[in-house]
Amino acid sequence: MVGQHPRAGVEYPTNWHELLAWFFDDAACLRYLERLGWGAGLTCRFCDSVDGGWWQVADGLRRCAACRSETSVTAGTIFAGTRTPLVSWFAAVWCVVNQKQGVSALGLQRVLGLGSYETAWVWLHKLRRAMVLPGRELLSGGVEVDESYVGARRRGSGGRGAVGKAIVAIAVEGDQAPERVRMRQIADVTKDTLTDFVLDHVARGSEVRTDGWQGYFDIGRYRLEHVVTNVSGSGDPAHVVLPHVHLVSSLVERWILGTHQGAISHAQLDYYLDEFVRHEALSDRVGCKAPPPGCRSGPVKLRAA
Ligand SMILES: [Zn+2]
Repeated sequence: MVGQHPRAGVEYPTNWHELLAWFFDDAACLRYLERLGWGAGLTCRFCDSVDGGWWQVADGLRRCAACRSETSVTAGTIFAGTRTPLVSWFAAVWCVVNQKQGVSALGLQRVLGLGSYETAWVWLHKLRRAMVLPGRELLSGGVEVDESYVGARRRGSGGRGAVGKAIVAIAVEGDQAPERVRMRQIADVTKDTLTDFVLDHVARGSEVRTDGWQGYFDIGRYRLEHVVTNVSGSGDPAHVVLPHVHLVSSLVERWILGTHQGAISHAQLDYYLDEFVRHEALSDRVGCKAPPPGCRSGPVKLRAA
């Protein structure tokens, strides 16, 4: 049975007791995800080789024989980068899927013994989102990528980053105007983190435009065309060089300050970023009402998913 795709409706826990028996630790969860995602093989997200040979590095982690990159089975899923045990996530998924009346945040908190209502609420929305928007398409064509520091001046004189502020990676598709957006809160602006973000959200063959930050220097290795504009060297401010991503960043900032008085916990930020994308995509009154000097984008209407 190992290595085969789990059979729908058969290899799926039928009750709470079975769930706990099957998924008794994170390794068991990872092995299940491997069978769901990879079957017997591995689709490498770095070189796109399908089943071209691989080594098992750890549970849920394989190294591609073709390009030697390591791929985690949780990459690009709601489980990516979580510090919460997979066992708990699996239990939460089971609750949300199997409660006929739907589960409340309070119910989830009780069943899983979560410390706070806020955590349960964030989990519930994350799970609902994952179910409502399965397999969002990757951005393609011309895509601008940059980071934004929510609630802070961007990149002060001290360089990249701002202590205590949330860092949000932003990717915006579109040539004439911003069309589709992907955003994610990230822990740092290292090569690993930023490369992961780009690979998770941008299709191979796209043209990725960034500034000259070294954290982006690896993305050209993954069948993406990397166009670098050195903002300080070009003499143009960032909002001219990367107009779409700059516009989205300022809209997010304004939206968070306006709607939530700037008071959003880091834990809730991901949820609000998604809400922003959905809201903008559904709304006609979105736009650059007071465009910053040099902003050529004008009013925008983002597309969903
Ligand atoms: Zn590979």
